[in-house]
Amino acid sequence: MAVLAEFFDLALIDLDGVVYVGPDAVPGSVDAIAQSHRLGLRTAFVTNNAGRPASQVADHLRSLGIDVQDEDVVTSAMAAADLLAHRLPAGAAIGIVGGVGVSASVEAAGLRAVAPSSPEAVAILMGFGPDISWRDLAEATYAVAAGALFVATNADRTFPTPRGIAPGSGAFVAAVQEASGVTPLVAGKPEPTLYRNAIDRFEAKNALVIGDRLDTDIAGAINAGLTRLLVLSGICSAKHAVLAPVGQRPDLIAADLQGLVTEQVFIRDIVRSGQQWEHCGWSAHLEDSVVVVTAPARAQGQSADGVDGVRCAAAAAWAQEDQVVDVVGLDR
Ligand SMILES: [Mg+2]
Repeated sequence: MAVLAEFFDLALIDLDGVVYVGPDAVPGSVDAIAQSHRLGLRTAFVTNNAGRPASQVADHLRSLGIDVQDEDVVTSAMAAADLLAHRLPAGAAIGIVGGVGVSASVEAAGLRAVAPSSPEAVAILMGFGPDISWRDLAEATYAVAAGALFVATNADRTFPTPRGIAPGSGAFVAAVQEASGVTPLVAGKPEPTLYRNAIDRFEAKNALVIGDRLDTDIAGAINAGLTRLLVLSGICSAKHAVLAPVGQRPDLIAADLQGLVTEQVFIRDIVRSGQQWEHCGWSAHLEDSVVVVTAPARAQGQSADGVDGVRCAAAAAWAQEDQVVDVVGLDR
């Protein structure tokens, strides 16, 4: 058992579904970050969402009461602009399909942001933007099919909003990929670049990645060789966490960011007893390829966040050589 904020020197925290959903903070997240700072943990915010420049994201975080500098925010748009700047001459024209965060990052990297229909565009960069139209996708497809370099800030197909799950920019990228037959270069998570850049900047020795997505945050942490905490406050359900494939499995699972400042058990440390995995009164065992979770007969001092059953189920599922296909008995 460990309090993570005392154990690690830097937290690389995802934003959507972890710190906030839409304009509002995830309950408990602001307090958890403040408590972590008091325990000596430094924080960087690492987002695949390319819709807003880092300074606007930092303003949003400050409006929620989080102590953050603009430089503590890194976005996939910044990584994409770096990627383009390494491959193209200074001042090259980049056709932008995305919001102001995408075009601002390109300009900041010494390139020129132009419309995707511009005959000057030598590359197309796609990222999040709330006003992307069919016409934009068509222009991007024409340019890519004609040989423009195709780059995406990120490949997230979905995105949590206050009203539910919405298409992410990866869904639009997929449309252009499908129509053009060209696969884009992807800059954001699960590529390890964003994490590595933040670690270098903070000169961190022992960083922890925190995210709500298996295929970007958690896979990216594995690609960067970092310890990873999955929180269940965003996209990923408890069941999806347990069914995570190899290459997308977290070391730790918590309900939300409060997991940083409460005692946590690593999934690998959950005790096997005979044919079952047990923790805080919960247990899980296998029936064919299904994990069956059993709740405690009565409260036995299980941790307050209510995910001990998920932790047991994950320990049982990930100990199997074959992929588990279902989980039953979870209460969340
Ligand atoms: Mg997220």
